[in-house]
Amino acid sequence: MSDCLFCKMASGEIQPDVVYENDEVLAFRDINPQAPTHVLVIPRRHISTLNDLTEADAELVGKLFLAAKEVARIDGIAEAGYRTVMNCNAQAGQTVFHIHLHVLGGRAMHWPPG
Ligand code: AMP
Ligand code: ZN
Repeated sequence: MSDCLFCKMASGEIQPDVVYENDEVLAFRDINPQAPTHVLVIPRRHISTLNDLTEADAELVGKLFLAAKEVARIDGIAEAGYRTVMNCNAQAGQTVFHIHLHVLGGRAMHWPPG
């Protein structure tokens, strides 16, 4: 999608602060971090929301979580603990409509989330 911010990052047109990448996913630091580690893991292929996932995307979704695990290892927060979040649509606060897994850590997380 030519007008999608995260597609531009996936293609290299815009260069985020990359933490980890492979052929299918890209992980980069959030521009407005909500924790000492706040990284977004995206598929390189455009998918707008969690609602748009299909059975064909099951392996790709698994790879988002495997990348999140790598991010936690790289930032040294794996043992202390961290949170992964994917917001879907307006009431959850989704603002960028290319799915992304937030990886948050480096401080104590509260529950329930706001
Ligand atoms: P969400 O509200 O779940 O859609 O999350 C979108 C996230 O993208 C927010 O946490 C934003 O701070 C982040 N974001 C927006 N623009 C950029 C950017 N140019 N680089 C990095 N992160 C961004
Ligand atoms: Zn996109």
